[in-house]
Amino acid sequence: MKKFKIAVLAGDGIGLEVTSICCDLLKQVGAHHGSFALDTEWLNAGADCYQQTGEALPGETMQVCREADAILLGAMGLPNIRYSDGTEIAPQLDLRFELNLYAGVRPVKPMKSLPLPLRNPDRRNIDFILIRESTEGLFASHGKGVVTNDQEATDTMRITRSACERLFRFGFELSRKRKDQGYPGRLTCVDKANVFASMAFFRKIYEEVGEQFPDIGKECMYVDAAALNMVKQPWNMDVLVTENMFGDILSDLGAGLMGGMGMAPSADIGDQHAVFQPCHGSAPDIAGQGKANPTAMFLSGAMMLEWLGEQHRQPDLVRCAELINKAVEDAYAKPGLLPYELGGQSGTNEITRTVQIEIERLL
Ligand code: ATP
Repeated sequence: MKKFKIAVLAGDGIGLEVTSICCDLLKQVGAHHGSFALDTEWLNAGADCYQQTGEALPGETMQVCREADAILLGAMGLPNIRYSDGTEIAPQLDLRFELNLYAGVRPVKPMKSLPLPLRNPDRRNIDFILIRESTEGLFASHGKGVVTNDQEATDTMRITRSACERLFRFGFELSRKRKDQGYPGRLTCVDKANVFASMAFFRKIYEEVGEQFPDIGKECMYVDAAALNMVKQPWNMDVLVTENMFGDILSDLGAGLMGGMGMAPSADIGDQHAVFQPCHGSAPDIAGQGKANPTAMFLSGAMMLEWLGEQHRQPDLVRCAELINKAVEDAYAKPGLLPYELGGQSGTNEITRTVQIEIERLL
């Protein structure tokens, strides 16, 4: 039996609530399947950790993360615990920089049976992936912004050739993988090349790397048009790739298309390491009330199994990931299961139990 070491950073607020049940669920699938086991190590990090120890991401935590096969992260940051410059504690950003997790993968695939914000019947066909560059862009200025004489503030967008080349290669390869699965096989570059030199450079490198992928469709879109199209015709999108800050904003729009932050999974992937976490933050407004939707966390856990399966050439894990995705879909196809954030009454326990029942049925 293959054992995987998983560094678990539950973090703050609802991060703690959804992480432990996700670990239980993944272990349930592993135990039933018998071909792999997850050895989870819980680690300190986040805003509470910062308040207690003065460190948001202690060195020991970082070391275990470096040695782990994968990292599972809940949510981090609390609005009332901040650095002296007024910014929030966000070690999840530091992890992306430290471990070179350049591809933020944000699938946007709503559950067909849920009452979604878009009413057009084509909403059932929304199924695209947004890739958010996660090591530079405007976020490169995190912790480095300058305020001059209380009169002017500057944050700088940084775009490098090396980060762009690996990002676009990842995007084209993902588009190719999807093409093999029956998707259109198109990578859309989302930028603001008409205004910023940094974004014109971003697009230039997209076009250069694209020449190595003649089988994949190419398209460029300004970020404002992308926002419009994500509402007007998101069912026509396949794979989108964009700069860090634009990706941050558009991924919340993607979560909105799915009904809420608690439905949106994500992965931050590099060449050596990967972090899997729901798109949502610590949501202090609902923490401790049993209202947190764990779906995004379950789907992120499934993304982790898929990634581990591909990295270690263990198709069993990929099948287990598919099983979790199917169990979640089947749970929502049942009448009555509707999370609080979509206007329903289903809390963390009810959603978890319903998904567990579907997993048991499918195993
Ligand atoms: P961050 O800046 O850390 O990404 P945020 O400010 O975007 O966080 P979130 O914590 O993601 O905020 O929450 C935004 C809103 O979505 C909040 O009103 C919260 O209640 C709701 N929300 C977020 N996650 C969930 C969830 N898993 N289940 C239910 N509601 C959620």
